[in-house]
Amino acid sequence: MDRKEELNTAFDIPVAERKYSEKPNLKIIKKILTISPFLLLLISILGLKLTRNLKLSSIRNINIENAYTPDHSILGHLPYNEVSKGKLVVIEPNIEVHVDMSESLLKMREHAKKDGISLVFLSGFRSINLQEKIFYSLKSIRNQNAAERARVSAPPGYSEHSTGFAIDIGDFNKRETDFEVEFENTDAFKWLKKNAAKYHFKLSFNKNNKNVDYEPWHWRYEGSIEALQVFEASNRKLKNTKDQ
Ligand SMILES: [Zn+2]
Repeated sequence: MDRKEELNTAFDIPVAERKYSEKPNLKIIKKILTISPFLLLLISILGLKLTRNLKLSSIRNINIENAYTPDHSILGHLPYNEVSKGKLVVIEPNIEVHVDMSESLLKMREHAKKDGISLVFLSGFRSINLQEKIFYSLKSIRNQNAAERARVSAPPGYSEHSTGFAIDIGDFNKRETDFEVEFENTDAFKWLKKNAAKYHFKLSFNKNNKNVDYEPWHWRYEGSIEALQVFEASNRKLKNTKDQ
């Protein structure tokens, strides 16, 4: 007796019944074959919907990131680390700047003097602590909210002055225009506009800046690798603003 016969005997299933039992299987296969195109269609539709949703949600995520902190800025100001004390040099009483820019800055002032222009340095390096005092005390004295204050002064940790690469410049003959937009009408400003780039200085907040008010007195140095690295994000932001 082979194994098949052994099994049949064991379960005592008649041959006719065994044949009959195969019929429902065929029916199921037929049914599956009939509905399979619909099943395939259903799976494809579900698959497409899922991919579309995934794409949409990733687009939404990108938009949310762009809308909030694409560059970690606050009220239009980018974050800056404080330069280490060892990289600062005193160029005159109360004015400290990054050693990389000190020579260029002094040469620029000499050149201006030869052209009959007297540049005054109003503010150079400012520590994050000092910036904190300036930001919060002036905000309070002038009864401004943070957004209003940020248009004219950077929040602590977000000032270019903390890097040592920023300098506020005035006109010795027009001191009443110090830190005022009217500084742009002085001979000093006109001279700077024409010559500052030769010394690697550029205006940080020009008239196109949406969040920060125009500051014709505030210049930053971009004449060393370190300075370029410090202002890389800012320059990228400026470029994107121009592209829009
Ligand atoms: Zn400044």
